[in-house]
Amino acid sequence: MIPVTKTFLPPLEDYNLWVKRAFDNQWLTNRGELVNLLEDKLKAYLNIDWITITNNGTVPIQMALKLLAKGGEIITTPFSYVATTAAIVWENCTPVFVDIHPDYLTIDETKIENAITANTTCILATHVFGNPCNVEAIETIAKKHNLHVIYDAAHCFGVNYKGKSIFDYGDISTCSFHATKLFHTAEGGAMFTKNSDLKHQLFYSHNFGHDGPLAFHGLGVNGKISELQAAMGLSVLPYIDEILAGRKKVVDTYNTMLDFSRLRKLKIRENTEWNYSYYPVIIESEDKLLKIQRELNEIDIMPRRYFYPSLNTLPYVKHTDMPVSENTAKSILCLPLYVGLEAIQIEKIARIIK
Ligand SMILES: *Cc1c(COP(=O)(O)O)cnc(C)c1O
Repeated sequence: MIPVTKTFLPPLEDYNLWVKRAFDNQWLTNRGELVNLLEDKLKAYLNIDWITITNNGTVPIQMALKLLAKGGEIITTPFSYVATTAAIVWENCTPVFVDIHPDYLTIDETKIENAITANTTCILATHVFGNPCNVEAIETIAKKHNLHVIYDAAHCFGVNYKGKSIFDYGDISTCSFHATKLFHTAEGGAMFTKNSDLKHQLFYSHNFGHDGPLAFHGLGVNGKISELQAAMGLSVLPYIDEILAGRKKVVDTYNTMLDFSRLRKLKIRENTEWNYSYYPVIIESEDKLLKIQRELNEIDIMPRRYFYPSLNTLPYVKHTDMPVSENTAKSILCLPLYVGLEAIQIEKIARIIK
């Protein structure tokens, strides 16, 4: 079977060595040696000054909203994974959807100001498939209207924009280290900020609010990642350049083998060092998409409909029409992309699509 993605598994010996360290330390969670070490290595690799790694990529979005959104209206994108919208509703905030740009697939910044009301507190946007939002325009709008900006950067490990990590943009940025993501800890995630008050608040929030064993800074939750998950991250990280190069090779092969006369591909924003995280194609119609999907499935090739459905149509949000997002969701298919996917398979996929 050719799945849409395959988790990168480091050599088991590598993982065993790190797990042995956790056993030797007799320390399995609560920020032990391995969690601290992984954070240091990630800071160096990503060239950022602060990170706290977490148990997944959703809890940090919830913590960011808890700290910044105060139950208000959140301007957000309808084209993302469900976690983005679900976090907003879970935190008792109201999602206010703004349609997306048809080529970049990120929130259409020119439509944000129309959606702002007296109750708006935040913009929560997703850098879709690792493709940055128009971060400058969003920052200008946020400053003008006194709003906070949170980026769901779940897909963005290794993405740089204008020479710096995409995680450096926005008041708070979050990432996912889920096994389906390009760098992973099986389950895991991270949060990023440059603001020293937010560093403090996010850090205590992810550890029940603790200020030492007997006192509390404030309200918190359990967002901690374990030593065993950090062991996976420490085993995967040395292969990250290999992972990125292996994915680039697959993307380049798709780019040469697919016929784009009747297909559209994702337009990567200018000044971006992209991470080859997904290979979406936009097909002329949903009928054609379903036909392509059926024919690929017949020979055990399993593309995925990321993202479907458009999040403004979820059963627990107020429905507003988002034509670009709804049409994109109906006609976009993510093709298999992982290290080691062979050119001969890509050729087969390209032929069936054609
Ligand atoms: C994967 C993903 C998440 C959730 O991350 P988890 O680590 O699975 O909680 C959030 N947003 C987007 C856009 C994602 O793709």
